[in-house]
Amino acid sequence: MTYPYDAPASDALFARAQAVIPGGVNSPVRAFSAVGGTPRFMVSGIGPYLRDADGRDYVDLVCSWGPIILGHAHPAVVEALRTAAGKGTSFGTPSEGEVELAELLVDRVAPVEQVRLVNSGTEATMSAIRLARGFTGRTKVVKFAGCYHGHVDALLASAGSGLATLGLPDSPGVTGATTADTIVLPYNDLDAVRTAFELHDDSIAVVITEAAAANMGVVPPLPGFNAGLAALCREYGALLVLDEVMTGFRVSRSGWYGLEGAGEGWAPDLFTFGKVMGGGLPAAAFGGRADVMARLAPKGPVYQAGTLSGNPLAVAAGRATLELCTDEVYAAVDATAATVARLTAEALNAEGVEHRINGAGSLFSVFFCDHAVVDYATASQQNILRYKAFFHEMLSRGVYLPPSAYEAWFVGAAHDDPALARVAEALPYAARAAAAVRAPELIAPPSAKDRT
Ligand SMILES: *Cc1c(COP(=O)(O)O)cnc(C)c1O
Repeated sequence: MTYPYDAPASDALFARAQAVIPGGVNSPVRAFSAVGGTPRFMVSGIGPYLRDADGRDYVDLVCSWGPIILGHAHPAVVEALRTAAGKGTSFGTPSEGEVELAELLVDRVAPVEQVRLVNSGTEATMSAIRLARGFTGRTKVVKFAGCYHGHVDALLASAGSGLATLGLPDSPGVTGATTADTIVLPYNDLDAVRTAFELHDDSIAVVITEAAAANMGVVPPLPGFNAGLAALCREYGALLVLDEVMTGFRVSRSGWYGLEGAGEGWAPDLFTFGKVMGGGLPAAAFGGRADVMARLAPKGPVYQAGTLSGNPLAVAAGRATLELCTDEVYAAVDATAATVARLTAEALNAEGVEHRINGAGSLFSVFFCDHAVVDYATASQQNILRYKAFFHEMLSRGVYLPPSAYEAWFVGAAHDDPALARVAEALPYAARAAAAVRAPELIAPPSAKDRT
C-alpha cells in the first residue's frame, strides 16, 4: 500500500505551529530536522496505528518514544482515565492512587524500597542527582557520552575527550560552571571509570548510566559493565543511578535490571523511571535505597517538590498500564520486536546494504554502518543519508519510524499480523531506497537539539 507523499493538512498545521511555537514543536526531534520534510501532525491513535491530519494511517514504531506499550487508546487505560477524571483532575493533597502506583514500582524492582513520583524523566534524573549529591556531600557527576538523561543542565554534556576532561556544555544556556562538575566518559569503558575515580576519588558523588543505552541508537551494556559500575561506586563511596526511564517496565516487568541485575548480585543505589509507568500521561519516578530516599524533604533536608506530582490521571493511566503488562504481554512484545528486526535485516541484506542491528530486550535500532557499535564514537559513524531515504520510504508506505537514526524503534502488544504485514511489505522498498544512496559515508553525530 503506497500513500501519497504530500501531507497538506500537516503542512498547514506546521506553518501555523511555527508562528507560535519555536520550530513548530514542543520537543525537538518531532520537527523531522534529522530526516527533512514535514512532521506528521497526528490526530488519533488506535492499537498499533496513528492517524495523521490528512487521514492517513501509519503503523507506529515509535509508540510515543516508549510509553505506549499496550497500543494506543487501550480500552482499560481509557476507562481508568475516564473514571479518574470524573473524580477530579488534581487535589494538591496525597491520594490513594499514588500509594498504589508506588507499591507497583516497589513490588516490581527488588532494590527499590521507596519512590518519589514526579512528572517527567528529566525531573527524575535531576532529582536523583541532587539527592545523591546531598547524601554523599560530594559534587561531581560521572555520565557517559551518548547517554541521554533528559534536559537536566548538568547532564547536557557529552563532549569531552580525555579522562580528566570535565564536561563541556552541549547547549547555549548551560553554563560551564554547571557542567564543570560533570565528567563525561566513553560508554562501556570500565577502565575509564576506574581512572576517573582514581583522579577525583572522594569528590565523585554519583555515576549515572542508562540501564541499556538507547538514545544514541540502541547500545547495550557489555557483559559486566553495569555490575562493574556498581562495584566501583561501592569501592569509592559514590552512588550509582541506573536510568531506566526508557527500559523500565518496557523490556521486562522489572526493566533492564530484571533482565540483567536480578540474581547477579549487584544493584544500583537509585533508579529513575518514566515513559511506560505513566501509560502515556506525564508520570515518572526516582527511587531506591530507603536510607538514601530518607534524605528527601519532608523527611530529610534535600528539597524536591511538584504541584502536579502524583497527579490522579497520570497515576490512573500508569496503574492500569502496569497491571496489564503481564508476562504474556512482554513475551508478545519481545516476539514482535524480533520479527521486525529480522524482517529489516532480511530486506537490507537482500539489497546488500551494510548495517548493524543492536538490541537490548525488545528495544532495537538499525545503524547504517559496517562496524560494531559499542559507544558514542562508533554510533556516530554511520551513513545517516541512508537512514533518511529509508525513513521516508517507510513513511510514504504507512510505517512511522523514529525521525532520527539515533533513536530506538519501539513496538507494543497491539502490533498484530496485519500491522506487521504492512511493515514487511514496505521494508523491501525502503531497503532499495537506502541502497540507492551513493553519497560518501556521512559522519554526523546527533546534537542535543535533535534529541527527543
Ligand atoms: C526519555 C528519557 C529521559 C527523559 O525523560 P522525559 O520524560 O523526556 O523528561 C531520561 N532518561 C532516559 C534514558 C530517557 O530515555
